[in-house]
Amino acid sequence: MDLSVVVPAYNEAESLPELAGWIDRVCSGAAIDYELIIIDDGSSDNTWDVLRQLAAGNGRIRAVRFRRNYGKAAALQTGFEASAGAVVITMDADLQDSPDEIPELVRMVREEGYHIVSGWKKKRYDPFIKRTTSKLYNYTARKFSGIKLHDFNCGLKAYDGEVVRSIEVYGEMHRYIPMLAREAGFRNIGEKVVQHRARKYGVTKYGLDRFLKGYLDMLTISFITRFGKSPMHLFGTMGTLMFLTGFVLAAYLGIRKLVFVYHNLRAPLVTDSPWFYIALAVMIIGSFLFLTGFLAELVNRRSPDRNRYLIREKLNTRV
Ligand code: UDP
Ligand code: MG
Repeated sequence: MDLSVVVPAYNEAESLPELAGWIDRVCSGAAIDYELIIIDDGSSDNTWDVLRQLAAGNGRIRAVRFRRNYGKAAALQTGFEASAGAVVITMDADLQDSPDEIPELVRMVREEGYHIVSGWKKKRYDPFIKRTTSKLYNYTARKFSGIKLHDFNCGLKAYDGEVVRSIEVYGEMHRYIPMLAREAGFRNIGEKVVQHRARKYGVTKYGLDRFLKGYLDMLTISFITRFGKSPMHLFGTMGTLMFLTGFVLAAYLGIRKLVFVYHNLRAPLVTDSPWFYIALAVMIIGSFLFLTGFLAELVNRRSPDRNRYLIREKLNTRV
């Protein structure tokens, strides 16, 4: 199988027949042996009926239906697990991405050896507010991740099949697949300017909360990639610094008291100084950070890396 096209669909009944027909035309025209995997993400319209009809008419179409709306990331992950193609392309169901891009994307992955080719909607047909926030968002994502992409969130992306079958996408992490992939060791990430069109049928499935959630997920990812394997490095450092600061403060107060007493001077009570309480608080917080670090390490030990994420190839060996 040359290609798996993975399409998450949430209430996209009107778009799907057109999309499936178009993908079929393009792939047949370019002699690409493909499968189309559509995930019905708990739609409340008749998306599933439409998929049933489409699958009955074309053996290359496969479909999965979720029990409820789990989100685009879960839909993609399920599609990835079901995929068999040497190349995997993800695409939105709403006809904003053009299937005409498929042959070139497949060529770039197969012949130019890219692990990921991300679409770049250089000219966008989206509302003003979304275009602006998206620019800001992409700028931050570039700074955070060091990956030079213009359009992290583009639904149209092509992957070497091995990439998507060795990462795990969940939550709202579909926006950060390039970062997850790079973390898993796939560093050859490219970009292709793609055509973009206004949504033809239906409405967008996201509200303004996508921006907040997007940023939180970005923090999670940069935390996990930097400290996920050794949380103690973060918590231990912070805990040690705080505890030491508090300890030095407390020691200073204690020694000062002793010096006063030694010289038979009337010393103020240690508890009269605000620094005493600050020292106390800082030491307690420091200890708890330390404990958090230990707990995180314990949790880590119980969930070791699954081998499929680590291993690239094997010779004469079983793992
Ligand atoms: N989608 C999904 N589950 C969701 C939300 C969206 O599968 O909970 C799909 C949706 O059907 C579409 C793609 O994700 O195929 C992108 O969604 P949308 O076009 O609404 O996002 P936008 O283009 O506004 O970023
Ligand atoms: Mg869309």
